Amino acid sequence: MALLVHACCAECLLGPLDGLRERGLVAYFYNPNIHPLIEFRRRLKAFRLLADCEGIETVCDEQYGLDAFLDTVDRRAARRCEQCYRMRLLRTAELARRRGDEAFTTTLLVSRHQQHDVVRRVGEEVADAVGVPFAYFDWRHLAEPAHEEARRRNLYRQQYCGCIFSEYQRYKDTGLHVYRGQGHDSDQCPDVRPG
Ligand code: SF4
Repeated sequence: MALLVHACCAECLLGPLDGLRERGLVAYFYNPNIHPLIEFRRRLKAFRLLADCEGIETVCDEQYGLDAFLDTVDRRAARRCEQCYRMRLLRTAELARRRGDEAFTTTLLVSRHQQHDVVRRVGEEVADAVGVPFAYFDWRHLAEPAHEEARRRNLYRQQYCGCIFSEYQRYKDTGLHVYRGQGHDSDQCPDVRPG
C-alpha cells in the first residue's frame, strides 16, 4: 500500500523525502495552477529530474492546466487559494482511491507561504468526500532545509506560488525588466524579431 503524495514542486518534495520513502511514497505531480507555460515546464522538469535521481515512483499530469484552473478558481474570490488547494487535493484523493492507496497527502504542508490550516482542512474535507484518509503532517520546519538542499543540487527554485495572480503579486513592486530609458535613436535599436 502506497502513500500518494501530491507534489507541488521538487523543492518541497525534498523536505520530507526520506521519511516518505519508508511509507511507500508515490509522488503525484498535478498542478494546473502553474502559469505561464514555460514556468510550468520548468517546475515539471525539476520534479522529473529529482524523481529520476532519487528513484521515486511518480504519476505525472503533464498537461498545462490554465483552462482548467480558470474554469475552477474564481480569481475575484477571497478564498481563491482554498479553491486551488481543493482542485489539486480532490484530484489526488480520487487517484488514490482508484489506485487503492492507503492515504494521500501534499507537500503544500511544507511551505510557510501557504495557508497551512486551510490546506489541512481542505485535505480532511476531501478525504471525507472521497473516502480515502488524508495523512496530515506539519512539515513547515523542513522548508528551510529543503530550500538549502535544492540550492545545493542546483534544482530549479520558483520565485512565486504558481498562478498568474501570484506572479503579479511577486513582481508588481519590483523594477525587474522595467525599461528606464530616456528615449532612443532608432538606428541604435536591437533587432527584436523572434529568432
Ligand atoms: S496563489 Fe498559489 S495557492 Fe493561491 S491560487 Fe495562486 S497558485 Fe493557487
